[in-house]
Amino acid sequence: MNIMTNRMDLGFQKHQAEYEEAALMVLRSGWYILGKEVEAFEEEFAAFHGEGLSCAGVANGLDALVLGIRALGIGEGDEVIVQGNTYIASVMGASINGATPVFVEPDEHHQIDVTKIEAAVTPRTRAVLVVHLYGLICDMDEVVKICRKHNLKLVEDCAQSHGAKWNGKLAGTFGDVGCFSFYPSKNIGAFGDAGACISPDPELIRKIKVLRNYGSGKRYYNEVVGVNSRLDEIQAAMLRVRMKYIDEITEERRKIASVYDEKITNQGIIKPVQLTGGFAVYHQYVIRSERRDELIGYLKEKGIGTIIHYPVPPHLQEAYAYLGHHKGDYPICEKYADEVLSIPIYNGLTSEDQEYVIDALNNF
Ligand SMILES: *Cc1c(COP(=O)(O)O)cnc(C)c1O
Repeated sequence: MNIMTNRMDLGFQKHQAEYEEAALMVLRSGWYILGKEVEAFEEEFAAFHGEGLSCAGVANGLDALVLGIRALGIGEGDEVIVQGNTYIASVMGASINGATPVFVEPDEHHQIDVTKIEAAVTPRTRAVLVVHLYGLICDMDEVVKICRKHNLKLVEDCAQSHGAKWNGKLAGTFGDVGCFSFYPSKNIGAFGDAGACISPDPELIRKIKVLRNYGSGKRYYNEVVGVNSRLDEIQAAMLRVRMKYIDEITEERRKIASVYDEKITNQGIIKPVQLTGGFAVYHQYVIRSERRDELIGYLKEKGIGTIIHYPVPPHLQEAYAYLGHHKGDYPICEKYADEVLSIPIYNGLTSEDQEYVIDALNNF
């Protein structure tokens, strides 16, 4: 038996003819960057999320965060509140702009602990960055309320939460800007790097479009110092195909998660729980075990691949030593880093393989 943690080929194979046709159309068109496919994708992606939204395609998820935060005018001297157990890209989205990330502990659902956000607010706080980690979602009504009360911008990192909802409202639509990654392994993945920002504010999206292309709105006239973070036509065309199947993708992942929820009964394993009101899309299925490292070895012997998301919390990363944090500063983040384990979940994971994973976990 060999069950990998992820399989990106299966999603492609399922609709192979459509991807190939769309790619060929772009290849034959003679136009490869920022063209009709990108425009169409931006329109469709905005429309999927609701009326009155605008979208800017960018080169990757990190750039979506960096440019989204920059376009909000956040930078040097500002603080951005972010959950402390996130992927490093969320934190870099703030710090690359010169802002200081201020960490908040997660709750038992692996999401930002909304009861701890207000204690982290200072006169320098400009924004709350919510991550929807692993495709789960926190009480967004509460987050919105806190942001309004303290006059803070709300940024959503939706790299792991395409199609997730809180009380029926889609992730990415609660605040000022929703930032997406379409890295191939994400729920909605391209076949290379890609990202996007959505916002109810068309002026903010215009600014992001200017920033992504050397700060120029009109060709060869540069308003600001920007970057090169353009979305290319092939990836946009691939994403237009992938987005046709978002419901199918989400349903399959939710089905696998519900089988795991029901059948993993080992008392030593803590399963992920979505707070009532949330519609999770299970980018990962993250369990916790006090014997995590032993469990990894045991599963590996049985041919089951696992990954740790993430072994070192951002506040203890070398890159953020300058923030001056120490071990013990965020004990829940540190505990989760020692206990979390992502087990196989991907589109195309067979029922047989799911049962094999379940049996292995229950026999540990
Ligand atoms: C993947 C990811 C990103 C970054 O996306 P890239 O496209 O790899 O730059 C940002 N935040 C989170 C939570 C992610 O999982």
